[in-house]
Amino acid sequence: IDFEKASFKDFENPAGLDAYQRAALFDEYLDFLQARGHLNYRLVGLTGCGPTVDLDIPGYGGVRSYVGLVSNDYLGFTQHPLVKKAAIYGINYYGTGAGASPAIGGHFSFHQQLEDKIAAFFRRDAALIYTTGYTANSASLLSMLQQEDIAILDMAVHASVYEGVRGKNYKTFLHNNLEHLESILKASRDQYRTRIVVIDGVYSQDGDLAPLDELVSLVHQYGGHVMLDDAHGTGVIGKTGRGVIELYDLFDKVDIISGTFSKTFAHVGGYVIASPEMVRFLKFQSRQHLFSATSTPAAMAILQAIELVDEQPEWMDLLWENVNYFTAGLRGLGLDIGTTASAIVPVKIRDAAKTGEVSRLLLKAGVYANPIIYPAVSKKDSRIRMSLMATHTKAQLDVVLNAFEDISRKLHIGLQTEV
Ligand code: PMP
Repeated sequence: IDFEKASFKDFENPAGLDAYQRAALFDEYLDFLQARGHLNYRLVGLTGCGPTVDLDIPGYGGVRSYVGLVSNDYLGFTQHPLVKKAAIYGINYYGTGAGASPAIGGHFSFHQQLEDKIAAFFRRDAALIYTTGYTANSASLLSMLQQEDIAILDMAVHASVYEGVRGKNYKTFLHNNLEHLESILKASRDQYRTRIVVIDGVYSQDGDLAPLDELVSLVHQYGGHVMLDDAHGTGVIGKTGRGVIELYDLFDKVDIISGTFSKTFAHVGGYVIASPEMVRFLKFQSRQHLFSATSTPAAMAILQAIELVDEQPEWMDLLWENVNYFTAGLRGLGLDIGTTASAIVPVKIRDAAKTGEVSRLLLKAGVYANPIIYPAVSKKDSRIRMSLMATHTKAQLDVVLNAFEDISRKLHIGLQTEV
C-alpha cells in the first residue's frame, strides 16, 4: 500500500493478512501520518466541550488553549449551570448507573420522563430511548426491516443508518435528488411490503437540509414511510428549535423521527419517535434496547436541556448570529463552504493530503477543527469541518478567519484558485 495515496479504508482488509498483521500495517500507516502532523483525530481534550479547548499536542509547545470548532454542543448546554445541576441531582437521587437493561429493572422514572418529554418536544405521543443515537438508528431499522421490506436511503445519511441496513434490502438515491428517489419508489412499488425512506434533516458533513416537505409528500404518494434523523437540526433549526420538521410544519406527517441526546441536548443517548404501536414493538423487539442498559441518572441533564431550548431561546439567536458572521467571513475569503444552512460549516479543500496540511496549520494557529477525508466523504470532497456554538465570541471566530486567510494564501485553497 502506497502510504502517500492511502486512506483508512485501504487497511480494512488488505489481501493475505490476518487480523494482527492488518493491525500492524495500519499502525505503521498511523505513525506515518502522525510524523507529518496529519493524524489530527482522537486528540486528547483537557477541558471538555466549549468554544475553546486545551490540548497538549506533542511538538506544539505544551498545553495551549485552542479555539474549538469540534463540538456539536451547539447551544453550549454541556456547561450550563442548570444542566450540570440536573445531572448532579440525578446522580444524588438515583445513584450513578441504571444497573440493568430497561426490560428487566433498568427503567427508572427519569427514563420514562425522558421518553415522554422528547415525544412531547416533537408534539407526538410515544418515544423510546437507546444508549446512543447511533444505536437508535441502527437498532430500530434492524428490527423494522424484514426480508419482505426495503430501506431507501439518501446516500449522504449517517453511518448509523448504513449499519441498520447491513444484510437487509436497501437502495440509495443521489443526495437530495427527488427525481432519483421517485424512480426508485416507482420501480419498487409492488415488490416489497414496507418501504422506509431514511433521510437526515441536516446532513452531517455539508450541513445542508433535506427538502422535507416535497420528500414527505412524494414518499406518501407512493405508499412509503419516512424516517427522519435530525441529529444536527434539533435545537438549532426552526422557530423553536424543533429542527427541519418545524420549518415545514410536518410534525404529524413524518412517520419516524430519530435523534440523539449527544448534541444540543448536552449528554449522550438516542431516541426513536413513532406511532405508539411501533414504539411498543421496538421496546420489546429491538435487541439493543431489550438487552442493553440505557442512560445513567446523569441523563437528568437532558430533561433540563430540553426545557432550556424553550425557556432560553437567546442561545439559539446567539448561535445564528455566529453562523451568519462566520459564513460571511469565510465566503469573503473566497473559500468554498458549499450549501450549508446550519451550524455545520465545511471548508472544502478537495484533496486529502492538503486537508491534513490545512488541519496542521490551523492547529499551529491555535484553531482546532476536524479534517474530514475518505471514507467519511468521497475523495474529491475532503474538507475541514467546523461546528459553531452559541458561546463562541466574535474575537474567537476572528482568530479562525485570520488563520484561514493566511493558510489560503499559502496553500491556495480558495475557490478562485481551483483548477
Ligand atoms: N445521526 C447523525 C446525523 C449524526 O451525525 C450522529 C453522530 N454524531 C449520529 C446520528 C449518532 O449519534 P450519537 O453520537 O448519539 O451516537
